[in-house]
Amino acid sequence: MIQNKIIQDFPALLMQENGKRLVYLDNAATTQHPRQVLDATISYYEKDNANPHRGVYELGARATKAHENARKSVAEFLHTEPEEIIFTQNTTESLNLVAYSYGLEFIKEGDEIALSVAEHHSNLVPWQRVAKAKGAVLKFLYPDESGHLTDEEIEKKIGSKTRLVAIAEVSNVLGLRAPVEKIVSQARKAGAVVVLDCAQSVPHMPVDVKKLDVDFAAFSSHKLYGPMGVGVLYGKKELLEKMPPFLSGGDMIQSVHEQSVTYGEIPRKFEAGTRNVGGEVGLEAAIQYINSIGYDEIMAHERDLMEYAIGKLKEIPYVTIYGEASAQYRHGVISFNINDVHPHDTASILDAEGVAVRAGHHCAQPLMDYLKITACCRASFAIYNTREDVDMLISGIRNVRRYMG
Ligand code: PLP
Repeated sequence: MIQNKIIQDFPALLMQENGKRLVYLDNAATTQHPRQVLDATISYYEKDNANPHRGVYELGARATKAHENARKSVAEFLHTEPEEIIFTQNTTESLNLVAYSYGLEFIKEGDEIALSVAEHHSNLVPWQRVAKAKGAVLKFLYPDESGHLTDEEIEKKIGSKTRLVAIAEVSNVLGLRAPVEKIVSQARKAGAVVVLDCAQSVPHMPVDVKKLDVDFAAFSSHKLYGPMGVGVLYGKKELLEKMPPFLSGGDMIQSVHEQSVTYGEIPRKFEAGTRNVGGEVGLEAAIQYINSIGYDEIMAHERDLMEYAIGKLKEIPYVTIYGEASAQYRHGVISFNINDVHPHDTASILDAEGVAVRAGHHCAQPLMDYLKITACCRASFAIYNTREDVDMLISGIRNVRRYMG
């Protein structure tokens, strides 16, 4: 099985936790790193490190090349051009950039911003602030009982007043993919731009921003086997060109005088200050790693894991799964509760068994309210997880019931 080889690439997965093999099922929070990513980052710092776009010396030129090559790789990964790729710190900063630059400039009083109630706080709070500052209205799309956004709901909530739609391609709690194609077509009819939060989709499926025809897309390196501290924002060139900068300072300018400034061209207009080039190089290596396995293989493996895990969880009568419990629609995430047990107790007992899952509101409190729960457990999967990991989770859940009554 290819996973046996893949696991060997990830030093963190060879560790023991609480005297047991680590079963890492918190991949929606952050993934572990393959040796190839760690080596690429170390090699950058050993051989190519200088401040990009500044030094005229050879080492500086190598740092600039590393930075721009990483941008090219990300552009290819999303099927677009390098000038449409901006490096940020994470998905959160990418979404804030769109909110404070595009939102504050182009959203007007009375305009509507449409978003799903399942959004991660990163794709909600910035829009709350824009709405408050501009007198705009937030319109929420609510999923049906199985967790899906229906065509009817999309047509009802995205209308003539909608100027912007902010949506996660895959929910970090429900693990279901939003009907992005339908949302984009409805947004086009309304004349609204679409901001796609791809934090939970890029680890599990290819994302072609041109085919999807979204206006902005964001993701984090650290959820894609790359280092923390690097995020990506894709933006359509014609929009980026008319947007004001988000942060300002060094490296984003063409010229500065006492009372005036001319900004640099895109994408540098949005990249103020020294960049995390070592992290970008690591992200590039992560993309190469994913490509070396291939999304077909990744998706087939994760579908098998989802089918196996959901099948096993459904056999346990005291487990409630949130969102449609069907592997066909699930992408890497299964959120659940054990009836009458607090999710933090469940996660702590699982931890004692070496199984790492997340418990809490998952930065999606409006969704928790909508589901009428305060918190839940989330098991989230990646390319290195196996059916044995699922077996450990299931046996841990049975032990929780045993201990907690
Ligand atoms: N959007 C979604 C759907 C997420 O799951 C997350 C993180 O869990 C984020 C945004 C924020 O990502 P980051 O913390 O890397 O900015």
